[in-house]
Order: sequence, then C-alpha cells, then structure tokens
Amino acid sequence: MGKKIRMIQLIRGFKDILPGEVELWQQVENTARSLLEDFGFKEIRIPIMEHTELFARSIGEDTDIVEKEMYTFPDRKGDLITLRPEATASVCRSYIQHKMYTTDPVRKFYTIGPMFRRERPQKGRYRQFYQINAEIFGVDSPLVDVELIFILVTLFSKLSVSDVNAHINSLGCPECRPMFKTALSDFFTSLNENLCSDCVRRKDRNPLRVLDCKVPSCRTAMTDAPSILDYLCPACDQHFETTKTALSALNVPFVVDKGLVRGLDYYTRTTFEIQTSALGAQNAIAGGGRYDGLIKVLGGPDIPATGFAIGLDRLTEIAGSTRTDLVKTPDIFIAALGEKGVSLAFEWNCALCLEGVKAEMEFGDKSLKSQMKRAHRLGAKHVLIVGDNEIKEGKVILRDMETKDQVSIPIENVVKNIKLKLSVSNIKRE
Ligand code: AMP
Repeated sequence: MGKKIRMIQLIRGFKDILPGEVELWQQVENTARSLLEDFGFKEIRIPIMEHTELFARSIGEDTDIVEKEMYTFPDRKGDLITLRPEATASVCRSYIQHKMYTTDPVRKFYTIGPMFRRERPQKGRYRQFYQINAEIFGVDSPLVDVELIFILVTLFSKLSVSDVNAHINSLGCPECRPMFKTALSDFFTSLNENLCSDCVRRKDRNPLRVLDCKVPSCRTAMTDAPSILDYLCPACDQHFETTKTALSALNVPFVVDKGLVRGLDYYTRTTFEIQTSALGAQNAIAGGGRYDGLIKVLGGPDIPATGFAIGLDRLTEIAGSTRTDLVKTPDIFIAALGEKGVSLAFEWNCALCLEGVKAEMEFGDKSLKSQMKRAHRLGAKHVLIVGDNEIKEGKVILRDMETKDQVSIPIENVVKNIKLKLSVSNIKRE
C-alpha cells in the first residue's frame, strides 16, 4: 500500500480569507478608500520586507514588537530583513527616500495590506493581520489629528459599526516627557515587587512601556501611576486642548484615557485608540497618533506627522455580523451539451463577461440534470441551455431560475439578446 501523503496546513496564527468572506473585506476596503480619497489621501504601496534597522530604530528597541514579535531573518547574503510589523515606518522611509518634502512637505497617504507580528494567536489576534493605514505629513496643527479621528468614526458609522469609543491621551514632547518619565520611573521603583520581569527591566530605561503592559498584576499596580497630563508643557497642553475642543465641535464623543500610551516608541502628543465592546478582549479596532520626531530619527528633515492604523481583521468581524448579501452570484449559467454546444457556449461566455454580464458555464461533459444542479448551487439567476437540438433549430432556451419561466432566443445575435432580456428581468425584479 502507498504511503499516505501528509497534508500541509497553514502556519499557526495565519489564515485564509475565503470567497464568501472576502466580499465583506472588499466592501470595507472600498468604503475606506473612497472616504480617505474624499479627504485628499493618496494611495501609496510599500514593500512587505524592509531592513530590520528601519523598525528597530522607529518602533523602539524596548517595545514588545521589536523585542519579541518581529519575523526577522538573514537573507542569503546575511543582511537582516524583517516582515513589516506595521506600515508607518515604511511610509516615512519612502517619503524621505523620494525626497517628497522638497516639492510639498504636506502629504496625505493611505495604504492597505498585511502586517506580521509573532504574537500569541487568539481570537482577534493573528500573526499575519491586515491594516488600513493613513498618514499625514507636514502639518503641526492638532486639527489634522482631529480629522483622522473624525474619519475613523465616520468610517465605522458608514459600516454600521456602532458602540465605538474614541480614547485619547497626550504623550507630550521631548521637552516635557523626560520629567514625566522620571516621575513614572520613581513610582514604579516604589512598587518593584508587583511588576513582571519585563516591566522591572523596562521601568528605568523606558517606563512608558510599563504603562502598556497587559499582565494583570502590573495593571493593578498602575492604577495610581502619575498622569502625563499633569506634566505637559504649555505648547503640548494647548495642542491637546485644541484637539478636545475641535472633537467636541464635530460632535465626536471621546474619553481622555491617561493610561493610553500605545506599544510603539515614536508617538508624541496626541495618541488615540478606537475601542468597541463588540469585540471582546481584543477591543481596539484602530489606533494612532502624532509622531513628530520620527521622520528626523529616520534621517529626514524635522517634519511633523500623524496617522492611524485600522485592524481590518477585527473590523470585518464586527462589520460582518449583519451582512449576508455581498456574495456575487452569476447572472447566467450556460448549460452546454455536446461538442458544438460547448464551443458555442464558450464563445458566448467570454463575450457576455466582456459585456459585464457575470456568466459561468460547464466545461466538462455533464448531463443537463447535473448542470442544472450546479447552476442552482452557484445561485445563478438564469440558465441558458444549448445542445445539438437547439443548434439545429437555431434557438436556445433561457430559463429564469426564480420564476421558472422559459423563453426561446434566436442563436443569431444571442449575446445582445441575452443582455437585453437580463436587463428587462432585472428591472422587473427591482
Ligand atoms: P497598532 O499597529 O498596534 O497600533 O494596531 C493598530 C490596530 O491593528 C489595532 O487597533 C488592531 O485593530 C489591529 N491589530 C494590531 N495587532 C493585531 C493582531 N496581531 N491581529 C489582528 N489585529 C491586530
């Protein structure tokens, strides 16, 4: 007996997005694309892999992403490369590399695609996941941060995702943050024994990361931690005040959340996260904020920037709970019998598709009964039957699968005639 061949499964934490699910993804992406383009964002496509240093330098060496989660490996020449864990660093690299700031420093970009982080997989958390990213370069005004939050809230409402909350905080700037860091570090030192080993290690070098720790004992220990909002310099304070006023003017509900620091080092001033109770433990569907120093850190000029990332996996999960009508079914299925029937059907099939009629046919040699079954399974709205008899008589049969009505159509100009009949029956249906 032959040896059984082992089936190859996908990698843990990765997933397939199958037809049936993918239609919702397309709808969400198209809605986001069109909204972002209305707000003046241009699409940019950046590579999946970059030099490891790009992420190490931007996201920060002490972060979970860089310390534990990146897919990093040497290529065949030994250069260290990384599958991108996020998009912002790459968009900045591209902006700097192509010197886009020389013609116009103010740019708005969006990009959609997969990210890779080797986190512990669970519901709503994958090792390959998808994001829609938007970035605004060259604008210092808090109004653009508000624009980003407004776009997010609008998008979620367009997708009928209710129950969303905007959480906002300020992380200050290189002027005021050092004082806050010292206060935070002193606070954590005073409760050393309650922190996990990561936090003990990070509390002096990068105490903001401790605020981001998800370990329950660390979370409890943080309840009384000092708030950055008490340490903001006048410029950061003013920036944050304007952000709040402009959000209120646009009727965007928000809560100020002093524990919101987000898992990347590059953030400055306003950070935000959109949370929803519809998701369970992984309740963030989008996050972002200002990262004024990043372009300079990556070797570019001193240009302010702000942006967001939407988690598409989580968004489709909740946008999908009410949608079942997105799968496209064929307008027509051509049931062909005999060699001549199949070759005519094939010509018509291609011509109909070119005319924008969703057509399918049976390529194998199958009985009419089994072809009708397949048409039914595919949800075809009509079936066209063509066999030797029909060809001899110069007429084919068009069957409406819903009403079961059948009409004869002359073979001459058949594509044109079918198009006409289908549009009439669509009008009747509507
Ligand atoms: P971040 O890039 O960490 O700021 O995340 C932005 C958004 O991406 C989050 O609010 C999530 O919706 C989504 N996200 C982040 N990590 C994952 C993951 N491992 N699996 C699925 N979605 C994720």
